[in-house]
Amino acid sequence: MKYIEPHGHMVSRTTDDYQKMAMAGCEAICEPAFWAGYDRASVQGFYDYFRQLTEYEPARAAKFGIPHFCWLCINPKESEDAGFAREVLSLIPEFIDNPTVLGIGEIGLNKNTKNELAIFEEHVEIAKKYDQPILIHTPHLEDKLKGTKLIIDALKNAQVDSSRVVIDHVEEHTAGLVLDNGFWAGMTLYPESKCTPARAVDILENFGMENIWMNSACDWGVSDPLAVVKTALEMGKRKYDKDTVERVIYDNPKSFLENCPNFKI
Ligand SMILES: [Zn+2]
Repeated sequence: MKYIEPHGHMVSRTTDDYQKMAMAGCEAICEPAFWAGYDRASVQGFYDYFRQLTEYEPARAAKFGIPHFCWLCINPKESEDAGFAREVLSLIPEFIDNPTVLGIGEIGLNKNTKNELAIFEEHVEIAKKYDQPILIHTPHLEDKLKGTKLIIDALKNAQVDSSRVVIDHVEEHTAGLVLDNGFWAGMTLYPESKCTPARAVDILENFGMENIWMNSACDWGVSDPLAVVKTALEMGKRKYDKDTVERVIYDNPKSFLENCPNFKI
């Protein structure tokens, strides 16, 4: 099996996790900038985090033979203080030309507030200015549908090319909305909450296998760095052939990521 982990927060994982992913056939890991499990106290905290994403984590992944790429932003959870968020945004140009940076993400909404939306729109302007693709985080539970609609409206207002945007954490009630508007959709697999492997395959069966990827998030919470592989096994159990499985776990993320000039495997 070969696959791509298109959304993994490796800064919170151990070297054992890297080893397991390498053994399972992982050919690339893409790490969006996000909340780190705690709120950073200063802009300097983000400067250090961007260095971790662009320097230290690629070096750690390389020890296991896996290319590591990243996306840059301040996440919606820490964007509520708009003044602070703008100071973090001002750091992005310094890092954007790094050879492993894929684009702007994961930006989006957390509680669908006015400040979050303003900072989201400012990120979109940076992406347009530097001609970068965008990776989007959608809110959880009851905020998800409303947040997804707000995000799609903002992207349409900004006239962003939808084929260069992936909207992540889709579920049954948002996948159709995202795909019908021409965006890529991402499903985030978690062992307990959110999308389990079986539920993800149900979603694939309902919405098709075009323009959709799966990721494990593998963050600081209860999560599983092998969730994509386990979902591939679930597809095998349901008698999907090897080519179809590979299309979902390798070809699809590769197709989207080829929008990013720095993505090479
Ligand atoms: Zn994430």
